[in-house]
Formats: sequence, C-alpha cells, structure tokens
Amino acid sequence: MRLSRYFLPILKETPKEAEIVSHRLMLRAGMIRQQAAGLYSWLPLGKRVLDKVSRVIREEQDRSGAIEMLMPTIQSADLWRESGRYDDYGKEMLRIEDRHERDLLFGPTNEEMITDIFRSYVRSYKDLPLNLYHIQWKFRDEVRPRFGVMRSREFLMKDAYSFDIDYESSKTAYDRMFVAYLRTFERMGLKAIPMRADTGPIGGKLSHEFIILASTGESEVFCHRDYLDMAAPGEGVDFTDAAALADIVNTWTTPYAATEEMHDEAAWNAVPEGERVAARGIEVGHIFHFGTKYSEPMKAYVTGPDGKDVPVFMGSYGIGPSRLIAAIIEASHDENGIIWPKGVAPFDVGLINMKPGDAECDVVCERLYAELQAAGQDVLYDDQDTRAGAKFATMDLIGLPVQIIVGPRGAKAGEVELKLRAGGERETLPVGDVLRRLSA
Ligand code: ATP
Ligand code: MG
Repeated sequence: MRLSRYFLPILKETPKEAEIVSHRLMLRAGMIRQQAAGLYSWLPLGKRVLDKVSRVIREEQDRSGAIEMLMPTIQSADLWRESGRYDDYGKEMLRIEDRHERDLLFGPTNEEMITDIFRSYVRSYKDLPLNLYHIQWKFRDEVRPRFGVMRSREFLMKDAYSFDIDYESSKTAYDRMFVAYLRTFERMGLKAIPMRADTGPIGGKLSHEFIILASTGESEVFCHRDYLDMAAPGEGVDFTDAAALADIVNTWTTPYAATEEMHDEAAWNAVPEGERVAARGIEVGHIFHFGTKYSEPMKAYVTGPDGKDVPVFMGSYGIGPSRLIAAIIEASHDENGIIWPKGVAPFDVGLINMKPGDAECDVVCERLYAELQAAGQDVLYDDQDTRAGAKFATMDLIGLPVQIIVGPRGAKAGEVELKLRAGGERETLPVGDVLRRLSA
C-alpha cells in the first residue's frame, strides 16, 4: 500500500477525551473513530489489525476442531423467552420492534440461537462432539462505555459453543478451548492468565476468565507469581488426546488465580507472601461450562448409546477481538507509539522513501516494494513528500515491526537502513540483502 493513496488520518494532538494509552494511540494512529457513545468505526488501519487478530483466533479455533459459521446480529425475542433470559438479561439488552410489532433484539451473545440450530438437526450421540463458532458483532448497552473499544457497546466477539453427550466429554471440550485460548493469546505476544471466574448471566459452575495484567484494567485480580513464567503449549498439542489436555489445564489451574468475585482469602493467604501478585487486569476471554442450562428448557435432546434421550451438555467460549486490540496496545507501546507484535501488525514492514523524486531513492524503493510484496510481506510504502521528522513519527506511532529507510546517500551506494520498532536497533545493509534479512 502506498501511503499517498491510503487513508491514514493521523491526529497530531492528543485527544482529550481518551483516558488510557490504548484509546489515545488508537485515535492518534487513525485506527478508530467514535460515532456515538460506545460505537466505533474501524478505519482502514484498525480494520487491518481487527482482521489479523481474528485470523489468529480463527486458526487456533480451527486447529482445536471447532467449526466456523455465522449467525445474524438480530435475534428473535421468542428464543430468549424459551430459556427465560429475555426477562433476566435486563437493560444491557437492546430490544427492537419490527414493523409487524414482533419483538427482536440485537444479540449480546448466542447461546439460545445455537441451541435452536443444534436441536433442529442433531439427534444422536454419534454426531458428537460438536463445537460451532462465529465471529460476529454483539451489542450490550453498557452503563458506562469507556476506554474506547476496551468497553464499547457494539463490539466484535468470537463465541464458540460445544455440545457433548455427558459431563466427562463436555469437560474435555472445555479443556480443548482452554488450551486453544492459551495458544491464541501467546501468539499475540500476550501473557493471559486463566482465573476462576464468576459466570454472570451466562450461568454454569465451571468458568475461567483469561486476564492480562495491566494497571488500566477494570478488574481486581489475584494470582501466584509462577504464572508469569509459564509458556503456552506448542503447535504440536494433540487436541484429540483428552488426558494430555486435562494435564495442561491442570498445570494452568493449580497455582492460585482468581478474579475479585471468586477471591478466596484463605487460599490466598496460603500463597507465600513474596509469590503473591495482586494487580489489575483486562478480561480478554471467558469460557463457561454450563451443562444443560439451555438444552433442558429448550429441549435440545440427543439419543445416547443406551437409546435414552438426554439433554445435551454445553459450554460457551468467548474472546473479544476488538477489546484484545486495546489490550495488546496497553501491553506493548512506548512514548512514541504502538509496538505491534508480529502476528497482528497491520503491515509487516514500513518502507520509507526519504526523498521521493530523487531518482536513486525511487528506484530502490520501487524495487523493494515489489520484491517484499512478492515474498508475501504486507508493506506500507511512505512515498509522500513530507519532512523526515514527520515520516519517522508516523511510522513509530503506527508501530509496524520493521522499518526500512531509504535515503539518497545510501541509495546511491546501494544500501538501506533497517530499524526494528520494538528495541530501536538499526543496521545498514545492501539492498539485495533486505529480503533474506526479513525472512531470517
Ligand atoms: P465484562 O466483565 O468485561 O463486562 P463480560 O464478562 O460481560 O465482560 P463475556 O460475556 O464473558 O463478557 O464476553 C466474552 C468476551 O467479550 C469478553 O472476555 C471480552 O473480551 C469481550 N467483551 C465483553 N464485553 C465487552 C465490551 N463491552 N466491549 C468490548 N469487548 C467486550
Ligand atoms: Mg466475562
């Protein structure tokens, strides 16, 4: 993408309404624009990150055996009357009436709808286990939308729903998602700690929230220091091996970790004082095992091996890609701007032409622009005739992992400068070596 042709509305001034750094940086970097309280447009740069984050989530969901689909944002109130949640959900639900005076709602979550789909098609234990997910916009009329996309009213959510014949196999479905979540967050450069959590309006007994420690987080959390050094399971993890999955979950749930609602003073006091981490955290994911809470009232029954009909055992598993982006920025930035982890950066490389119009600079830049793209790299090419200071400030602000700087003197000598955004390291190298250096 040529910057001269792109839409990147950078803000020079720090927006006054933004209280936390991720919100400030997302506005300044031209990623989002507020349209009304808690409602945001995703501008081109932000949309690219949203797609990258969703892609990582999708890859790990698919790897674990979940199957993608798409449900509508608008739902019929009747389904929610069946589960009893139409009245329970309260003011967070946006209720809508259509021209035929039928009650609709903008979905805050999809347990009812997926249960309806399931009961319409699945009858036998032989079709289980099943895990269906979608990545779709949700609406919750939050009392206090704030911090930009961290707590918005309309937000993107990946929500998966598992179906199993009994408790045992549904616990394995829970473990599968637990492990997929550990991998997903690690791939985004985040340390997310699974903590025992309250289940709120979704219901059920077994539940974990995945929390990123950050001073700007809204939750108060408590955990053992051991979590800070634990590494997520590798790519080779076998999602069909129930015992191996249970082992991993066991390892990740043995040290103490709980959110404020589930905090247990006695267990906390048993953690040696020097090992205690009491901090603030951002909830980026939440998984629930709720058994037959929806399948019973909604009559989603399957026939078991013994010929008896039983309500199907379910769980639901959410990640907020839009909130995640803010959380990644909270965890990864400096005074000059965002520092994107590799897997979610909007572009892989920023190519800076220091003197557009200079024959040698233009030739070197055009060559690198073509070669890098041919090699599969997403390149943002700053081909604009602006001041050097402004070019550097913009690239640092939008946080692409690698910058390649092409100036007239270097271009003449066949050399460019490469700068890594994270640590600021710089090196000079021959134009012909850039591709190899970036794929190393
Ligand atoms: P919170 O406690 O922060 O209000 P929740 O517990 O109501 O969230 P869940 O129902 O568990 O949220 O939703 C699953 C995921 O969706 C959350 O982990 C979070 O990543 C995301 N999410 C929930 N509410 C919002 C929101 N208002 N804005 C952005 N993302 C959200
Ligand atoms: Mg939650």
